[in-house]
Amino acid sequence: MNTLSADERAKLKQKIKREAKKLGINLIGFANVGRWEEYRLTGESYYPHTIWPWAQTVIVMAVQIYLPMLETTPSVVYSELYNTTNRMLDETAYRMANQLNELGFKAHFFPRDCYGDISVLVKKPEAAFSHVIAGYYAGLGTIGVNHTLLTEEYGPRIRLVSVITDAPLTPDPMLSKDLCIRCHQCVKHCPMQVFTPRTDRVAADMDKHKCALYHQQLKEEFRYPCGRCTAVCPVGKDKKRYGAHSVSEEGIEHVRSFGSIQAGS
Ligand code: SF4
Ligand code: SF4
Repeated sequence: MNTLSADERAKLKQKIKREAKKLGINLIGFANVGRWEEYRLTGESYYPHTIWPWAQTVIVMAVQIYLPMLETTPSVVYSELYNTTNRMLDETAYRMANQLNELGFKAHFFPRDCYGDISVLVKKPEAAFSHVIAGYYAGLGTIGVNHTLLTEEYGPRIRLVSVITDAPLTPDPMLSKDLCIRCHQCVKHCPMQVFTPRTDRVAADMDKHKCALYHQQLKEEFRYPCGRCTAVCPVGKDKKRYGAHSVSEEGIEHVRSFGSIQAGS
């Protein structure tokens, strides 16, 4: 097992943060694997250290989703943005793990998404790992009614990836205050009406199969994914930057008319 002094831990953490920033990461947080056992939001088979017993720390990194592009969803504009974030996240996590290897630590990454194709989620709507839960344990945000990770900076408009390492880094504090204000805009605007709010916890009951089926349709139309429940969420400084509606009605119609197939057209 790798051990580091408090000073070495602090220096390594600063170095990782600097490198992440250079690689274009907007948010980064650190969780120790003990948080999976302490909070038990997933089954044990999902614990990073169940899969890789040497794992000590999960470094969760996020890039923002640009609100003015997301607000055109479903469209080729958001679809391409989504694909770009996927490439960025996997490449960045790959590089970060490489750097940790060169410093003598075990490290690799859990790719973003963690499913092969949307048809897989239609049959079995769970991915191999939850970056949302990892992000919560790493202090990046809290989980909202819509099951996404809400952050102060971008609300739920982020994409995530996780690096697993045996470097014993000091975990970041988890957020103590829920960021979700339970406005239920996500519930109201979901085109498939998949959410049923609960009174005993923040996250709503969610018909994941219905959401996956809709995504399968959008994929065939080259305007995947949906993301409506993240576009409308009022949490995040980006909402203040762009305002409640950053794209005109005509603009939405225009963007949706080209580069992808609108159902019925
Ligand atoms: S992604 Fe779309 S269909 Fe799925 S829950 Fe969000 S709004 Fe509903
Ligand atoms: S839209 Fe409202 S209820 Fe839904 S996640 Fe955002 S703050 Fe929570």
